[in-house]
Amino acid sequence: MCQHQTPCPTADSADRESARLVAHHPEQGWSLLCNGVLLFEDTGELLPDGRVIDPHRPLGTAQVMTAA
Ligand SMILES: [Zn+2]
Repeated sequence: MCQHQTPCPTADSADRESARLVAHHPEQGWSLLCNGVLLFEDTGELLPDGRVIDPHRPLGTAQVMTAA
């Protein structure tokens, strides 16, 4: 899926979050990385093979909660 000159980490990599953003939808709370990983605002992830990664970073106190 990634077509960058220096390939980004794959979705299987522990470093998967350092892949580049290809879509960013802060109003919906998610971003799509070029390796196919969906990254959610709460740091949860949805991998291209359907696996779900639970949120794994504490939210900063300065973060504005957008959920109603
Ligand atoms: Zn890439």
